[in-house]
Amino acid sequence: MKKKITYIHLIKIKMIKYEDLKKVNKLAVPNYKKIFNSFWNSGNYILGKNLQKFEKKYSKYIGSKYSIGVNSGYDALYLSLKCLNLPKNSEVILSSCSYIAAVNAVIANHLKPILVEPDINTYNIDTNKIESKINKNSKVILITHLYGKSCDMDKILKIKRKYNLYLVEDCAQSHGSKFKKKITGSFGEFGCFSFYPTKNLGALGDAGLITTNKKYFYKKLIEMRNYGFRKKNYSNLIGINSRLDDFHALFLNEKLKKLDEMNKHKIKLAKIYDKLLSNKLKKPLITYDKTNIFHIYPVRFRRRNDLINFLSKKKIQVLCHYPVPPHKQNSLKKFFNNQKYPISDQIHKTVMSLPISFSHSEKDVRYVCKIINKFL
Ligand SMILES: *Cc1c(COP(=O)(O)O)cnc(C)c1O
Repeated sequence: MKKKITYIHLIKIKMIKYEDLKKVNKLAVPNYKKIFNSFWNSGNYILGKNLQKFEKKYSKYIGSKYSIGVNSGYDALYLSLKCLNLPKNSEVILSSCSYIAAVNAVIANHLKPILVEPDINTYNIDTNKIESKINKNSKVILITHLYGKSCDMDKILKIKRKYNLYLVEDCAQSHGSKFKKKITGSFGEFGCFSFYPTKNLGALGDAGLITTNKKYFYKKLIEMRNYGFRKKNYSNLIGINSRLDDFHALFLNEKLKKLDEMNKHKIKLAKIYDKLLSNKLKKPLITYDKTNIFHIYPVRFRRRNDLINFLSKKKIQVLCHYPVPPHKQNSLKKFFNNQKYPISDQIHKTVMSLPISFSHSEKDVRYVCKIINKFL
């Protein structure tokens, strides 16, 4: 008797991870083995040549006079605010829609965070709502170029000048994004960068940097990040230990060469999303002037969790940046008693981030669009 043949169909479902850092870093720094070998052999690991070189190259890239490498994006924000030496309870104006780091840095400096609602279309601080929050205690505007999109710097600078405020830029998501030919991080007193591994320019661990055009701030920050030492072992002010490791500086030096190419790739993917995704999702504004380097591709959808679950079943990984705004965090609520930020709440409730990495191909993104449109 003939044996019955059964066919087993192995249907392989394509898996799309939100991010693949191993792949990104291999593509960006293919000669990593050689580089690490030379580092190992140098025997010089802190405040060495690699850091100096990176600080120089990064200043040049951003278009600011000085760079100070520090330990993280948070430290960049914390030290910048501390450097200003403001009277206690001075007010810092910032968006109600951002990552938690900026608010934490304000509070850690004994300053008062004053939240302003974001613009629902750009997700950045609503420049029309800033002036009503300004009073004699206002000292700083701290803007975040959120998701990679530059704030409207014409309007921000006008307000800064009119009220004589300091300007701190949180550029943790905007490495290389421009506003009218100037790169973010070169507009204010300080540009604060994070090189957390998933950022557009990411290290192999925690790292950060401050850009500034003022020599006075540069000199002070160099001391502040290293126990207040002006000369080795002679402390001039009470500083902390927040030095950018030479190991990360070495890697970042190499990766910086690829930053524009990586950003371009992300912009290309964003344009595909913009073209193919159903308009039932609220898509980000696409601008063709490089104001947005698409650190993230945020879309908004009322039934966000249903869509996330559906995509997870289809093996497409998406994230939320961020599910809870700073003013609703358990740790921060008490600083914003009875204050309402409905636009920020609405964004945090509905926003989700689609895969948009240097490791993704155009085909990957077309596939994600197809699956999402099927759900919709
Ligand atoms: C990542 C991030 C930070 C913090 O950077 P760390 O290096 O993780 O401390 C600050 N602000 C924004 C907008 C960020 O995305």
